Amino acid sequence: MATAAVLLLPSGRVQAIRIAQEIPVELDARFTSPSEPTAQDAGAESLFWREERIRSGDTLTSVFKRLELDTADVHAVVEADGKTKALSQLRIGETVAVAVGEEGQLAKVKYSPSPTETYLYEHGDSDNSFQSQHVVETPESMPRVREGRISSSLFADAAAVGLSQAQIMELAGIFGWDIDFALDLRAGDTFSVLYDEQYLDGRKIGNGDILAARFTNQGTTYTAVRFVGPDGSAAYYTPEGQPMRKEFLRAPLDFTRVSSDFNPRRLHPLFKTVRPHNGIDYAAPRGTPVYAAGGGKVIAVGYSNSRGNYVDIQHNGKHATRYYHLDRFRVKKGQVVKQGQVIGAVGSTGYATGPHLHYEFLVDGVHRNPRTVALPKADSIPARLKAPFAMRTNSVLAQLDHLGTAHLATRE
Ligand SMILES: [Zn+2]
Repeated sequence: MATAAVLLLPSGRVQAIRIAQEIPVELDARFTSPSEPTAQDAGAESLFWREERIRSGDTLTSVFKRLELDTADVHAVVEADGKTKALSQLRIGETVAVAVGEEGQLAKVKYSPSPTETYLYEHGDSDNSFQSQHVVETPESMPRVREGRISSSLFADAAAVGLSQAQIMELAGIFGWDIDFALDLRAGDTFSVLYDEQYLDGRKIGNGDILAARFTNQGTTYTAVRFVGPDGSAAYYTPEGQPMRKEFLRAPLDFTRVSSDFNPRRLHPLFKTVRPHNGIDYAAPRGTPVYAAGGGKVIAVGYSNSRGNYVDIQHNGKHATRYYHLDRFRVKKGQVVKQGQVIGAVGSTGYATGPHLHYEFLVDGVHRNPRTVALPKADSIPARLKAPFAMRTNSVLAQLDHLGTAHLATRE
């Protein structure tokens, strides 16, 4: 079998398989407790389950070794895994469970890459081979609305009403094109979020995507609806079908790292004079990644006394962005960059009193305020999808209003 050949050395030993990079593990239980005997196990003999958590630097071999499996069994399981290769994609924090019989012989191996998905490798009745089974369960969805008001920070206030860290990032991602969460958030701003909670056998296993959301920032209300096109791609739109996503990021760095009490200084601290200020300053710890605000080409990378280390990006005939005082570069002149790509890190090179990013946005060569300039938009809902989009929008916005206390934004 081709797959097994990849995994086995000529000598027959199992080759080390690289474990994928660490990914954040949801707090929800990822595993049905292996110690509970299942109906299938209620046979002539009882099985004893053991499990091992994947650690940094683990290989399938090292995991199986800790589980005290013998080489022949490891072989047979890897062979059974030939088609799916699920066991070659183990990630740090995940668990592999094995069941052994009373005589210590390996009967089952179980691996669940997600709460709804399980790979089971079961010993055959006669020969020493394993049969693999891939079980995918469909969770039940329960719509849920969470809403709140900003009093300290987006993270604190959204977490206080029950949104997870991942959902808060998702929310910030949806509205981050219109609202600069680093500098524009105010006490009294409000938000409401509709999503599905997912249950399996009555147990909550996770959250679905945000289906609709509202954010009122300094009196302006933004509404977003998730819509999945016929090609399966999902995006967020205004109720009128305009994309939330824009061709440029509102803030070209992680807003959670920007210090909010930073005042852009009109009076230049080094020269003690009022200097024209063509951009916006974000104070953030040295090393904070700086992103390309939009896709384009790096037209300049260099150093000058006033700018420090700087990067200039040309996005098309019309738009250009500039990034100053960088600690280090991650791009070269002439390089094509994608939106959100890391181009450097916040620093204090050149005339800068402390680590900050000075960011400029130019339209047709003229400096514009990046916080208020109208950003070009991605594609809106095409005419042929207007009807299904309108139906979807009406349905999710009705849920958003009726499942929440509703109209929070207009209450005192
Ligand atoms: Zn500046």
